[in-house]
Amino acid sequence: MVHCLRKASCVGQWYSAKDKTGEMAKKKHAPSNPACQGCPALCCKDLVVIIMKPRTRAEIENLKWELQFDTVSVFIRNNRWHTETKGTCIYLDENNMCTIYDRRPDRCRRHNPPDCERFGEHYDVMLRTPEELEAYLAGSKSKRKKTRKLRRKH
Ligand code: SF4
Ligand code: SF4
Repeated sequence: MVHCLRKASCVGQWYSAKDKTGEMAKKKHAPSNPACQGCPALCCKDLVVIIMKPRTRAEIENLKWELQFDTVSVFIRNNRWHTETKGTCIYLDENNMCTIYDRRPDRCRRHNPPDCERFGEHYDVMLRTPEELEAYLAGSKSKRKKTRKLRRKH
């Protein structure tokens, strides 16, 4: 669910109204974003939440604990931290169509296909395990130390 517009406008057809028999009718509509045509709704198959960068030992331990679950990852994009949890939205049907398209949440409307996971990596750094998180934090700490030393020299 990262910066995607399937939720906004990409679906070629969706179910939103009942026909005379009371069955959900399949409505056609021209996708306003052709970039989403044929995509298996990748953006509806993970949950992304913006988080604060962990700073204290307790925050780091907590995030490491989340990363013990194989459905959870952490990624950083433009210096913003996120958790990403794999799982499918309950409103996505077997044809990868949103069944509540006309009343989908605001967050679903604000996604942006050029940035989405279908078109390449949607992150600058991906951390999948507690060890990767520790290594990343240790690496950025030593980078900061080196930068401070260099500044002091000049
Ligand atoms: S992942 Fe991207 S291309 Fe696929 S449906 Fe979502 S916005 Fe469209
Ligand atoms: S409500 Fe669910 S299925 Fe519909 S667009 Fe949002 S994430 Fe996708």
